[in-house]
Amino acid sequence: MTVGQSRVIAIDGPAAAGKGTLARRLAAHLGYAYLDTGALYRAVAARLLACGVKATPAAAAAEARRLRPEDLERDDLRGDDVAGLASMVAAMGAVRAALLSFQREFAARPPDGRCGAVLDGRDIATVVCPDAFVKLFVTAAVEVRAERRLKELRERGVNAIHSRVLREMQERDARDSERSIAPLLPARDAFVIDTSTLDAEHAFAAALEIVEARIFRAHA
Ligand code: C5P
Repeated sequence: MTVGQSRVIAIDGPAAAGKGTLARRLAAHLGYAYLDTGALYRAVAARLLACGVKATPAAAAAEARRLRPEDLERDDLRGDDVAGLASMVAAMGAVRAALLSFQREFAARPPDGRCGAVLDGRDIATVVCPDAFVKLFVTAAVEVRAERRLKELRERGVNAIHSRVLREMQERDARDSERSIAPLLPARDAFVIDTSTLDAEHAFAAALEIVEARIFRAHA
């Protein structure tokens, strides 16, 4: 790493694989800034839903260009309607293009003078930061992920049904993996962490081992 250059950790993976928890913990541990890039696509979807306009590529790209930091703090970002629409607008090239420079700028010059950044999403290692210092692909069996999402929804007081949560997750996985632009897939040089049988603690330990080995090699 040269002086002034940010160290970037890219974490990709499907919904509810545990990448957000892992990314937040790694960032806190290393003193890096953290960006949940899914929140950008969710915020575009939430803005479209709020103004009731049809989600055409032109309308969605216009909302993407209008995003403000406070949009990422909206309390309606976590709903399943927002998640579903987010994965639809995420397949639109004009939306992805509108959000790309913000993500790259965050990685290159993290806020608050941090010397590194952790970004999580679907295309961080493949498109946004292909030169990331460490690339992780965090995944888990879809049944396990649906079970986690169901638990999370029930804890929030939402009366969810397992079969529906599973179906929606499979649909979103398919949209994210099969789209032609920036599909969800592990980068060739990504380390894969399967959390199907790992709790958050073990996933963090596995990721930290990979990051520390990489830092050690950079200093050797
Ligand atoms: O990660 P999260 O579930 O919040 O992401 C919501 C949606 O945003 C995903 O299903 C995906 O379609 C899209 N997304 C993306 N690229 C990213 C992050 C999220 O396409 N880097």
